[in-house]
Amino acid sequence: MVKGAVMHNFMEPLKIESLKLKPLREGEIAVKMVASGVCHSDLSVVQAKLPVPPPAVLGHEGAGIVEEVGAGVTDLKPGDHVVLAWVANCGKCHYCTNERTHLCEQAVQAAMLGQEAVFEMGGVDVSRMAGVGSFADHTIVRATSAIKIRDDIPLDVACLVGCGVMTGVGAAVNTAKVRPGQTVAVFGCGGVGLNVIQGAALCGAARIIAVDLAPVKLKLAQQFGATDVVNAKDNPDASSAIKDLTGGLGVDYAFEVVGTGALIQQAYLSVKRGGAAVCVGVMPMGQSVEIPGMMLSLEEKSLLGCLYGSANVRRDMPLLLDLYMQKRLKIDELVSKKIKLEDVNAAFEAMEKGEVARSVIVY
Ligand SMILES: [Zn+2]
Ligand SMILES: [Zn+2]
Repeated sequence: MVKGAVMHNFMEPLKIESLKLKPLREGEIAVKMVASGVCHSDLSVVQAKLPVPPPAVLGHEGAGIVEEVGAGVTDLKPGDHVVLAWVANCGKCHYCTNERTHLCEQAVQAAMLGQEAVFEMGGVDVSRMAGVGSFADHTIVRATSAIKIRDDIPLDVACLVGCGVMTGVGAAVNTAKVRPGQTVAVFGCGGVGLNVIQGAALCGAARIIAVDLAPVKLKLAQQFGATDVVNAKDNPDASSAIKDLTGGLGVDYAFEVVGTGALIQQAYLSVKRGGAAVCVGVMPMGQSVEIPGMMLSLEEKSLLGCLYGSANVRRDMPLLLDLYMQKRLKIDELVSKKIKLEDVNAAFEAMEKGEVARSVIVY
Protein backbone atom coordinates (compact mmCIF):
# COMPACT_ATOMS: atom_id res chain seq x y z
CA MET A 1 0.00 0.00 0.00
CA VAL A 2 1.01 3.55 -0.68
CA LYS A 3 0.61 6.35 1.85
CA GLY A 4 -0.61 9.59 0.30
CA ALA A 5 -2.13 12.95 1.23
CA VAL A 6 -5.48 13.14 -0.56
CA MET A 7 -7.67 16.15 -1.24
CA HIS A 8 -11.25 14.82 -0.95
CA ASN A 9 -12.92 18.23 -1.26
CA PHE A 10 -11.82 21.80 -1.90
CA MET A 11 -11.29 23.96 1.20
CA GLU A 12 -10.73 20.90 3.43
CA PRO A 13 -7.51 19.66 5.01
CA LEU A 14 -5.76 16.86 3.11
CA LYS A 15 -6.26 13.38 4.58
CA ILE A 16 -3.53 10.78 4.88
CA GLU A 17 -4.84 7.65 3.16
CA SER A 18 -3.75 4.17 2.12
CA LEU A 19 -3.84 3.96 -1.67
CA LYS A 20 -3.24 1.33 -4.29
CA LEU A 21 -1.05 1.95 -7.32
CA LYS A 22 -2.40 0.76 -10.67
CA PRO A 23 -0.24 -1.51 -12.86
CA LEU A 24 2.32 0.35 -14.99
CA ARG A 25 1.15 1.27 -18.46
CA GLU A 26 3.34 1.73 -21.51
CA GLY A 27 5.66 4.70 -21.14
CA GLU A 28 5.20 5.01 -17.38
CA ILE A 29 7.60 4.52 -14.48
CA ALA A 30 7.07 3.80 -10.78
CA VAL A 31 9.00 6.09 -8.45
CA LYS A 32 9.80 5.70 -4.77
CA MET A 33 9.52 9.27 -3.55
CA VAL A 34 12.27 10.54 -1.28
CA ALA A 35 11.20 14.16 -0.82
CA SER A 36 8.60 16.68 -1.93
CA GLY A 37 8.44 20.41 -1.48
CA VAL A 38 5.15 22.00 -0.42
CA CYS A 39 4.52 24.71 -3.01
CA HIS A 40 2.02 27.53 -2.97
CA SER A 41 0.26 26.00 -5.98
CA ASP A 42 -0.67 22.97 -3.86
CA LEU A 43 -2.49 25.33 -1.53
CA SER A 44 -4.08 27.09 -4.52
CA VAL A 45 -5.53 23.73 -5.59
CA VAL A 46 -7.07 23.21 -2.14
CA GLN A 47 -8.49 26.73 -2.37
CA ALA A 48 -10.10 25.83 -5.74
CA LYS A 49 -8.00 28.39 -7.59
CA LEU A 50 -6.42 25.83 -9.94
CA PRO A 51 -8.17 23.13 -11.97
CA VAL A 52 -7.39 19.84 -10.21
CA PRO A 53 -10.60 17.91 -9.44
CA PRO A 54 -10.81 15.88 -6.21
CA PRO A 55 -10.19 13.24 -5.14
CA ALA A 56 -6.53 13.85 -5.90
CA VAL A 57 -3.08 13.27 -4.48
CA LEU A 58 -1.45 16.71 -4.53
CA GLY A 59 2.25 17.55 -4.70
CA HIS A 60 4.20 18.49 -7.83
CA GLU A 61 7.72 19.27 -6.56
CA GLY A 62 9.21 15.84 -5.97
CA ALA A 63 12.34 13.78 -6.35
CA GLY A 64 12.89 10.08 -5.89
CA ILE A 65 14.32 6.83 -7.19
CA VAL A 66 12.99 4.85 -10.14
CA GLU A 67 11.66 1.47 -8.96
CA GLU A 68 10.22 -0.03 -12.11
CA VAL A 69 9.88 1.00 -15.74
CA GLY A 70 6.97 0.17 -18.04
CA ALA A 71 7.07 -1.11 -21.61
CA GLY A 72 8.78 1.19 -24.08
CA VAL A 73 10.84 3.09 -21.51
CA THR A 74 14.44 2.91 -22.62
CA ASP A 75 16.14 5.97 -21.13
CA LEU A 76 15.51 5.20 -17.44
CA LYS A 77 16.17 2.15 -15.28
CA PRO A 78 15.49 1.08 -11.69
CA GLY A 79 17.83 2.89 -9.30
CA ASP A 80 18.03 6.11 -11.33
CA HIS A 81 17.61 9.31 -9.32
CA VAL A 82 14.98 11.57 -10.84
CA VAL A 83 13.38 14.95 -10.38
CA LEU A 84 9.74 14.98 -11.46
CA ALA A 85 8.75 17.75 -13.83
CA TRP A 86 5.16 18.94 -13.72
CA VAL A 87 5.31 19.62 -17.42
CA ALA A 88 6.13 16.51 -19.42
CA ASN A 89 8.74 16.71 -22.15
CA CYS A 90 7.64 14.30 -24.89
CA GLY A 91 10.17 15.45 -27.47
CA LYS A 92 7.70 14.90 -30.31
CA CYS A 93 4.86 17.44 -30.23
CA HIS A 94 4.73 20.80 -31.99
CA TYR A 95 6.13 22.63 -28.95
CA CYS A 96 8.86 20.14 -28.07
CA THR A 97 10.17 20.18 -31.63
CA ASN A 98 10.16 23.99 -31.72
CA GLU A 99 12.29 24.60 -28.62
CA ARG A 100 9.24 25.41 -26.47
CA THR A 101 9.31 22.21 -24.42
CA HIS A 102 7.72 23.83 -21.36
CA LEU A 103 4.52 24.09 -23.41
CA CYS A 104 4.56 20.35 -24.27
CA GLU A 105 1.12 19.09 -25.27
CA GLN A 106 1.43 15.93 -23.15
CA ALA A 107 1.44 18.14 -20.10
CA VAL A 108 -1.91 19.65 -20.88
CA GLN A 109 -3.43 16.23 -21.40
CA ALA A 110 -1.99 14.62 -18.31
CA ALA A 111 -1.42 17.39 -15.86
CA MET A 112 -4.34 19.61 -15.21
CA LEU A 113 -7.20 17.42 -16.31
CA GLY A 114 -6.58 14.72 -13.73
CA GLN A 115 -6.75 12.00 -16.38
CA GLU A 116 -4.71 8.81 -16.28
CA ALA A 117 -5.33 8.08 -12.61
CA VAL A 118 -2.54 5.99 -11.14
CA PHE A 119 -3.91 5.82 -7.58
CA GLU A 120 -6.98 3.94 -6.43
CA MET A 121 -8.84 3.98 -3.13
CA GLY A 122 -11.65 1.55 -2.39
CA GLY A 123 -12.16 0.97 -6.12
CA VAL A 124 -12.37 4.72 -6.85
CA ASP A 125 -9.80 6.43 -9.10
CA VAL A 126 -7.76 9.13 -7.37
CA SER A 127 -6.04 11.57 -9.74
CA ARG A 128 -2.64 13.17 -9.19
CA MET A 129 -1.70 16.81 -9.43
CA ALA A 130 0.13 17.87 -12.57
CA GLY A 131 0.94 14.31 -13.58
CA VAL A 132 3.19 14.01 -10.49
CA GLY A 133 1.39 13.41 -7.16
CA SER A 134 4.45 13.79 -4.96
CA PHE A 135 2.47 13.87 -1.68
CA ALA A 136 2.69 10.07 -1.63
CA ASP A 137 5.56 7.78 -0.73
CA HIS A 138 5.27 6.11 -4.15
CA THR A 139 3.84 7.42 -7.41
CA ILE A 140 3.64 6.60 -11.10
CA VAL A 141 4.53 9.19 -13.74
CA ARG A 142 5.09 9.27 -17.46
CA ALA A 143 8.75 8.67 -18.20
CA THR A 144 8.64 11.96 -20.13
CA SER A 145 8.04 13.73 -16.78
CA ALA A 146 11.09 12.26 -15.04
CA ILE A 147 14.45 13.99 -15.36
CA LYS A 148 17.46 11.84 -14.53
CA ILE A 149 19.98 13.63 -12.32
CA ARG A 150 23.41 12.79 -10.90
CA ASP A 151 23.45 10.43 -7.92
CA ASP A 152 25.51 12.58 -5.55
CA ILE A 153 22.88 15.27 -5.00
CA PRO A 154 20.66 14.84 -1.92
CA LEU A 155 17.13 14.24 -3.18
CA ASP A 156 15.63 16.44 -0.46
CA VAL A 157 17.53 19.29 -2.15
CA ALA A 158 16.89 18.18 -5.73
CA CYS A 159 13.12 18.10 -5.27
CA LEU A 160 12.97 21.90 -5.09
CA VAL A 161 14.31 22.11 -8.62
CA GLY A 162 11.08 20.36 -9.66
CA CYS A 163 9.11 23.58 -9.27
CA GLY A 164 10.27 26.58 -7.23
CA VAL A 165 13.92 26.82 -8.29
CA MET A 166 13.25 26.02 -11.96
CA THR A 167 10.32 28.42 -12.19
CA GLY A 168 12.09 31.31 -10.46
CA VAL A 169 15.57 31.06 -11.95
CA GLY A 170 14.06 30.22 -15.34
CA ALA A 171 11.85 33.33 -15.26
CA ALA A 172 14.95 35.52 -15.07
CA VAL A 173 17.27 33.47 -17.29
CA ASN A 174 14.91 32.04 -19.94
CA THR A 175 11.76 34.15 -19.98
CA ALA A 176 13.15 37.65 -19.45
CA LYS A 177 16.75 36.85 -20.47
CA VAL A 178 18.04 39.50 -18.07
CA ARG A 179 21.34 40.97 -19.30
CA PRO A 180 24.28 42.17 -17.18
CA GLY A 181 23.68 45.70 -15.88
CA GLN A 182 19.90 45.60 -16.21
CA THR A 183 17.56 46.44 -13.34
CA VAL A 184 14.94 44.16 -11.88
CA ALA A 185 12.12 44.26 -9.32
CA VAL A 186 10.56 41.16 -7.79
CA PHE A 187 7.09 41.32 -6.25
CA GLY A 188 6.72 38.46 -3.76
CA CYS A 189 9.71 36.82 -2.06
CA GLY A 190 8.47 33.32 -1.25
CA GLY A 191 10.04 30.11 -2.56
CA VAL A 192 9.71 31.15 -6.21
CA GLY A 193 10.43 34.87 -5.79
CA LEU A 194 13.73 34.18 -4.01
CA ASN A 195 14.74 32.13 -7.03
CA VAL A 196 13.85 34.91 -9.43
CA ILE A 197 16.19 37.05 -7.34
CA GLN A 198 19.08 34.59 -7.50
CA GLY A 199 18.38 34.01 -11.19
CA ALA A 200 18.63 37.74 -11.85
CA ALA A 201 21.85 37.83 -9.81
CA LEU A 202 23.28 34.97 -11.92
CA CYS A 203 22.45 37.03 -15.03
CA GLY A 204 24.42 39.97 -13.64
CA ALA A 205 21.54 42.35 -12.88
CA ALA A 206 22.86 45.63 -11.49
CA ARG A 207 19.91 46.37 -9.22
CA ILE A 208 17.51 43.79 -7.79
CA ILE A 209 14.67 45.36 -5.82
CA ALA A 210 12.71 42.93 -3.65
CA VAL A 211 9.13 43.77 -2.66
CA ASP A 212 7.23 41.90 0.07
CA LEU A 213 5.04 42.48 3.12
CA ALA A 214 7.10 40.28 5.47
CA PRO A 215 10.38 41.65 6.89
CA VAL A 216 11.63 38.03 7.28
CA LYS A 217 11.28 37.43 3.56
CA LEU A 218 12.94 40.73 2.68
CA LYS A 219 15.90 39.68 4.79
CA LEU A 220 16.06 36.35 2.95
CA ALA A 221 15.77 38.26 -0.32
CA GLN A 222 18.99 40.10 0.51
CA GLN A 223 20.73 36.78 1.16
CA PHE A 224 19.64 35.65 -2.29
CA GLY A 225 21.04 38.74 -4.02
CA ALA A 226 18.53 41.60 -3.63
CA THR A 227 20.35 44.94 -3.60
CA ASP A 228 17.34 46.93 -2.31
CA VAL A 229 14.15 46.06 -0.48
CA VAL A 230 10.73 47.71 -0.42
CA ASN A 231 8.34 46.79 2.36
CA ALA A 232 4.92 46.88 0.69
CA LYS A 233 3.24 47.45 4.04
CA ASP A 234 4.90 50.87 4.34
CA ASN A 235 4.75 51.46 0.58
CA PRO A 236 1.32 50.39 -0.70
CA ASP A 237 2.30 51.85 -4.07
CA ALA A 238 5.55 49.97 -4.53
CA SER A 239 5.88 51.17 -8.14
CA SER A 240 6.64 54.72 -7.03
CA ALA A 241 9.19 53.45 -4.47
CA ILE A 242 10.83 51.47 -7.30
CA LYS A 243 10.91 54.55 -9.54
CA ASP A 244 12.51 56.55 -6.70
CA LEU A 245 15.20 53.88 -6.33
CA THR A 246 15.99 53.98 -10.06
CA GLY A 247 16.32 57.72 -10.59
CA GLY A 248 12.71 58.05 -11.77
CA LEU A 249 13.20 55.56 -14.62
CA GLY A 250 11.74 52.30 -13.39
CA VAL A 251 13.25 48.85 -13.94
CA ASP A 252 13.88 46.80 -17.08
CA TYR A 253 11.92 43.83 -15.72
CA ALA A 254 9.39 43.58 -12.89
CA PHE A 255 8.49 40.00 -11.93
CA GLU A 256 5.13 39.37 -10.32
CA VAL A 257 5.38 36.17 -8.28
CA VAL A 258 2.11 36.26 -6.34
CA GLY A 259 -0.67 35.99 -8.91
CA THR A 260 -2.97 38.96 -8.31
CA GLY A 261 -4.24 41.45 -10.85
CA ALA A 262 -3.44 44.39 -8.57
CA LEU A 263 0.22 43.37 -8.23
CA ILE A 264 0.63 42.68 -11.94
CA GLN A 265 -0.64 46.20 -12.51
CA GLN A 266 1.91 47.58 -10.01
CA ALA A 267 4.67 45.55 -11.64
CA TYR A 268 3.68 46.92 -15.04
CA LEU A 269 3.72 50.49 -13.75
CA SER A 270 7.18 50.02 -12.24
CA VAL A 271 8.97 49.17 -15.50
CA LYS A 272 10.71 51.74 -17.65
CA ARG A 273 9.85 52.51 -21.28
CA GLY A 274 10.57 49.39 -23.33
CA GLY A 275 10.59 47.21 -20.23
CA ALA A 276 8.37 44.27 -19.31
CA ALA A 277 6.36 42.92 -16.42
CA VAL A 278 6.83 39.15 -16.19
CA CYS A 279 3.82 37.24 -14.86
CA VAL A 280 5.17 34.28 -12.86
CA GLY A 281 2.46 33.98 -10.18
CA VAL A 282 -0.59 31.97 -11.23
CA MET A 283 -3.76 34.02 -11.10
CA PRO A 284 -6.90 32.25 -9.86
CA MET A 285 -9.30 30.96 -12.53
CA GLY A 286 -11.62 33.61 -13.94
CA GLN A 287 -9.67 36.71 -12.88
CA SER A 288 -8.36 39.40 -15.24
CA VAL A 289 -5.61 42.03 -15.30
CA GLU A 290 -6.14 45.69 -16.04
CA ILE A 291 -3.27 47.80 -17.37
CA PRO A 292 -3.20 51.25 -19.00
CA GLY A 293 -3.45 50.16 -22.64
CA MET A 294 -1.69 53.19 -24.06
CA MET A 295 1.57 52.20 -22.38
CA LEU A 296 1.70 49.06 -24.55
CA SER A 297 2.31 51.07 -27.68
CA LEU A 298 3.38 54.58 -26.72
CA GLU A 299 5.85 53.35 -24.06
CA GLU A 300 6.47 49.91 -25.59
CA LYS A 301 5.96 48.26 -22.23
CA SER A 302 5.16 44.54 -22.39
CA LEU A 303 3.44 41.94 -20.29
CA LEU A 304 5.32 38.64 -20.56
CA GLY A 305 3.66 35.34 -19.72
CA CYS A 306 5.79 32.77 -17.93
CA LEU A 307 5.13 29.06 -17.44
CA TYR A 308 7.63 26.95 -15.50
CA GLY A 309 10.41 29.48 -16.09
CA SER A 310 10.14 28.80 -19.85
CA ALA A 311 12.34 25.81 -19.04
CA ASN A 312 13.71 23.01 -21.10
CA VAL A 313 13.68 20.76 -18.05
CA ARG A 314 16.00 18.13 -19.53
CA ARG A 315 18.62 20.79 -20.20
CA ASP A 316 18.00 23.12 -17.26
CA MET A 317 17.37 20.91 -14.22
CA PRO A 318 20.72 19.06 -14.36
CA LEU A 319 22.40 22.43 -15.02
CA LEU A 320 20.80 24.07 -11.97
CA LEU A 321 21.89 21.13 -9.82
CA ASP A 322 25.45 21.43 -11.15
CA LEU A 323 25.39 25.10 -10.14
CA TYR A 324 24.18 24.05 -6.68
CA MET A 325 27.04 21.57 -6.33
CA GLN A 326 29.47 24.34 -7.32
CA LYS A 327 27.90 26.51 -4.58
CA ARG A 328 26.75 29.06 -7.14
CA LEU A 329 23.05 28.43 -6.51
CA LYS A 330 21.40 28.45 -3.10
CA ILE A 331 18.90 25.71 -2.41
CA ASP A 332 19.52 24.66 1.22
CA GLU A 333 18.70 28.19 2.33
CA LEU A 334 15.21 27.87 0.82
CA VAL A 335 14.25 25.06 3.15
CA SER A 336 12.77 26.46 6.32
CA LYS A 337 11.53 23.13 7.63
CA LYS A 338 11.77 19.39 6.93
CA ILE A 339 8.52 17.69 7.78
CA LYS A 340 6.60 14.40 7.64
CA LEU A 341 3.76 13.82 5.19
CA GLU A 342 1.35 14.01 8.15
CA ASP A 343 2.40 17.65 8.74
CA VAL A 344 1.38 18.85 5.30
CA ASN A 345 -1.71 20.77 6.49
CA ALA A 346 0.39 22.57 9.11
CA ALA A 347 2.81 23.47 6.32
CA PHE A 348 -0.08 25.08 4.39
CA GLU A 349 -1.00 27.13 7.46
CA ALA A 350 2.59 28.31 7.94
CA MET A 351 2.67 29.25 4.26
CA GLU A 352 -0.52 31.29 4.53
CA LYS A 353 0.92 33.17 7.49
CA GLY A 354 3.97 33.96 5.38
CA GLU A 355 6.23 32.14 7.86
CA VAL A 356 8.15 29.85 5.51
CA ALA A 357 9.91 29.86 2.18
CA ARG A 358 9.61 26.09 1.76
CA SER A 359 8.62 23.12 3.85
CA VAL A 360 10.02 19.87 2.50
CA ILE A 361 8.36 16.51 3.15
CA VAL A 362 10.94 13.78 3.61
CA TYR A 363 9.66 10.21 3.27
ZN1 LIG B 1 4.91 24.71 -7.58
ZN1 LIG C 1 5.89 17.58 -26.22
